[in-house]
Amino acid sequence: MPEQGAQAPRNNGAPDFREYLHPAMERNYGRWVGHENLRPGVYKHVAEGGEELFTVRAGSPRTLSAAAVRRICDVADRFCDGFLRFTTRSNIEFMLTDEKDVEPLIAAIEGELGLPVGGTGNSIPNILHTQGWLHCNLPGTDALGAVKAIMDELFEEFRSDDLPQRLKISASCCQINCGAHGDIAVILQHHHPPRPDHEMIQACELPKVVGICPVAAIRPARRGGKDTVEVVEEKCMYCGACHGQCPGLEIRDADTDTIAIWVGGKTASTRGGPAFMKLATYGLPNNPPRWPEVGAAVRRIVDAWKAEARPFERVGEWVERVGWKHFFDVTGFEFTRYHIDSYRFARTSFNTSSQARR
Ligand code: SF4
Ligand code: SF4
Repeated sequence: MPEQGAQAPRNNGAPDFREYLHPAMERNYGRWVGHENLRPGVYKHVAEGGEELFTVRAGSPRTLSAAAVRRICDVADRFCDGFLRFTTRSNIEFMLTDEKDVEPLIAAIEGELGLPVGGTGNSIPNILHTQGWLHCNLPGTDALGAVKAIMDELFEEFRSDDLPQRLKISASCCQINCGAHGDIAVILQHHHPPRPDHEMIQACELPKVVGICPVAAIRPARRGGKDTVEVVEEKCMYCGACHGQCPGLEIRDADTDTIAIWVGGKTASTRGGPAFMKLATYGLPNNPPRWPEVGAAVRRIVDAWKAEARPFERVGEWVERVGWKHFFDVTGFEFTRYHIDSYRFARTSFNTSSQARR
């Protein structure tokens, strides 16, 4: 029998987090009485016994070389007994117990690593983004590059914490939307069904190709005496999931793919509860290397929300209060028939939880 509380040995999944806690966190686990934000990017937690733990948060470029990770770890070795952690949005958090080391640590993070300190409280923390060309087999854009350009646009909002509420941004390189719901989400959209290449489809496992379509728009077919698949075009919602299963169903199109921006997503149960995002604007050019049209559109939303939101009002809550007509008025985005969800093949089996991330 494993000792009580221990996790069974296994060779996959997350390891037991307790092995990786900073010693001060382990000593005071479940015994924290409160925390304060000393300055943007720096938290102080106080435990029941009076012990203090300081957390310094830095932004990361997310895609890191081994050499860069080593440099980050060297700084953690010097100031933090070797402990740091990456948040779900890939902010880097350095933890330390001696307050006099906080300023030297910040100097090392900014001076030696070249990373900004911030992202706490009412700020814009790191943008959550998807794999892009680096890992996924079906991205229509380079989410990493677009995020870098957008974060450059919003750099001061990372380093300060004077927004009405925290603002979470995500970016996804296709509508499968691994980037998840966010206050503002940047998502690449395809605009036509996949184009079957029946020769290439021969390399694919056809039952899986049929099974992966969330709206049953793919069905078995015969062409030239061979088994293949065909796409029922009026059912297809251009999600691109089939292309990930079978390269013979190419959907990406440099001439027609564009970028859309959605607003108001929220997974927290606070106040009104979790909420799905809604379409703000679409048809923005997929324009590397700096995606200026996307950055400008995100900036318009941030500025409008910042100017009008009440304290602690998330973007979706602000829009619901002022009304969508006002949202389109102040952002200048055009309201069109595509903002009305008229897709009639949606089924009750659709994922209806904003908690689902992938
Ligand atoms: S599934 Fe889509 S959103 Fe996720 S990484 Fe691949 S291309 Fe990007
Ligand atoms: S793009 Fe999506 S909806 Fe269209 S056929 Fe492929 S999996 Fe189905």
